[in-house]
Amino acid sequence: MTATHWLFGDQLGPHFLRPGEEVGQIGPVVMIEARSVFRRRRFHRAKAHLVLSAMRHRAAELGDRVRYVRAETYREGLLQAVGNGPVTVHHPTSHAALRLVSALPQVRVLPARGFLLSHGAFRTWADQGGGGRLRQEDFYHWSRRELDLLMDQGAPAGGTWNHDHANREPPPRGAHGLGVPSPYRPREDAIDEEVRADLDRWEREEGIAFVGRDGPRCFPADRRQALAALHRFVDQRLAGFGPYEDAMLAADPVMSHSLLSASLNLGLLDPAECVTAAEAAWREGRAPINSVEGFVRQIAGWREYVWHLYWYFGDDYRHSNAMGHHKPIPGWFLELDADAVNARCLATVLAQVRDTGWTHHIPRLMVLGSLALQRGWDPLEVTDWFHRCFVDGYDWVMLPNVIGMSQYADGGRMTTKPYTSGGAYLHRMSDLCTGCAYRPACRTGEHACPYTTGYWAFTQRHRSLLAANHRTSRAVQGLDRLNDLGETLRTDRQWDETAP
Ligand SMILES: Cc1cc2nc3c(=O)[nH]c(=O)nc-3n(C[C@H](O)[C@H](O)[C@H](O)COP(=O)(O)OP(=O)(O)OC[C@H]3O[C@@H](n4cnc5c(N)ncnc54)[C@H](O)[C@@H]3O)c2cc1C
Repeated sequence: MTATHWLFGDQLGPHFLRPGEEVGQIGPVVMIEARSVFRRRRFHRAKAHLVLSAMRHRAAELGDRVRYVRAETYREGLLQAVGNGPVTVHHPTSHAALRLVSALPQVRVLPARGFLLSHGAFRTWADQGGGGRLRQEDFYHWSRRELDLLMDQGAPAGGTWNHDHANREPPPRGAHGLGVPSPYRPREDAIDEEVRADLDRWEREEGIAFVGRDGPRCFPADRRQALAALHRFVDQRLAGFGPYEDAMLAADPVMSHSLLSASLNLGLLDPAECVTAAEAAWREGRAPINSVEGFVRQIAGWREYVWHLYWYFGDDYRHSNAMGHHKPIPGWFLELDADAVNARCLATVLAQVRDTGWTHHIPRLMVLGSLALQRGWDPLEVTDWFHRCFVDGYDWVMLPNVIGMSQYADGGRMTTKPYTSGGAYLHRMSDLCTGCAYRPACRTGEHACPYTTGYWAFTQRHRSLLAANHRTSRAVQGLDRLNDLGETLRTDRQWDETAP
């Protein structure tokens, strides 16, 4: 009896079919839309829309080869579709989903797809060379070598591994946008209309609740759209990717970023085709090395690293709380209520999340995550918030990025220091302080910047930990030089009660 192949909602590209079936005859396939997922958590509506639209687009492509089941749970859906018949599935992307498929005796789990390196290869690296301290930069060099990616005769193409010096520019002075070609935007169709009607009905009749706005869909929902987005990025936008990667502009949230994370994480794109296309653009002289290396680093360095750490650190990693942060997230943040916020950087970024479910990596790290860290919000709650509110958020990508990178809740297993800053950094790297009610240099008084007071309050709270780390010890020395620390801390306390 031919086994039925199960596709999860983030396994939607051809590379998630059974080996050989990508190019040949496709055997029976099952896809399960499990309503309980939406009952358990309050997702951004644009995310629910995107995932359901992408699943239904894939089902439409597969036609009568797929059994598309709408059920309360995965178990029920599988029973309905195949009974106890044999099933194959590629390694799912979360601990919970892996537990589920591993507990079903009729399911055979095939190796993971959608990443560049195998679990085994990573484990070998981590246990041997990478062991001791796992560092992203070391991993990235190793992955480039392993994959022979952007390499020339064993040396990094372009002569150096790292082009960060060229890729950390503040935004061009006085500019409101980068003036680069706009990113690909998909057109909605009848499937999107059907999804919207279903979401309306679930809200009306089933008590399922969402957060955020479900405006026109911004991200690809099928393979054709995802490839169009990739090609538009590589052909028209990659060349300018590097220099302003870390900068923020209020009126240009996307800048030169690729907007490919949602497609990669839905499995519509394979990371190998993304980095191969970027490398080809450099070899053909269509994009400079700093931009191409910067983009390759994001995918073969960061995305890959995060995926492997998720499995390497194990399921208990989510409960890390090395900073002892236990405060609940306030309601205005949970509700994405940008209108309740005065700080222009935070209001701008929160509105981007509310309206699209996306913002680029620096607003995530240095505006949203930094605020959570400074305010001492519970890291697991913060992880859940990111997971629910971002179109590209999944358990595997959230745990390392939020618990490790953004909240330092793992005490430094992933990064060498906590990422947070005062208003001065935000001012240097963005135009977000222009016209703000607060001033980045003010620590006290009505214009005191909540990121500046928050930075000093955080440094004071964790002074012994920060003093012992050579990357942060200067912050503690700076703290000791403040002549108005008491007043700064008193000023900061107001943000525990109200939105900044
Ligand atoms: C607190 C925090 C939460 C994040 N949550 C997510 C998330 O839920 N999903 C997600 O895909 N990324 C997440 N990231 C990483 C990064 O912010 C997004 O991948 C990126 O902003 C997506 O936009 P883009 O496609 O335009 O990225 P680009 O800037 O164009 O980068 C290219 C690609 O690199 C990959 N990438 C880069 N950095 C990372 C990273 N740290 N982890 C995983 N992939 C990476 C993405 O696939 C991205 O599409 C998070 C980062 C932080 C600091």
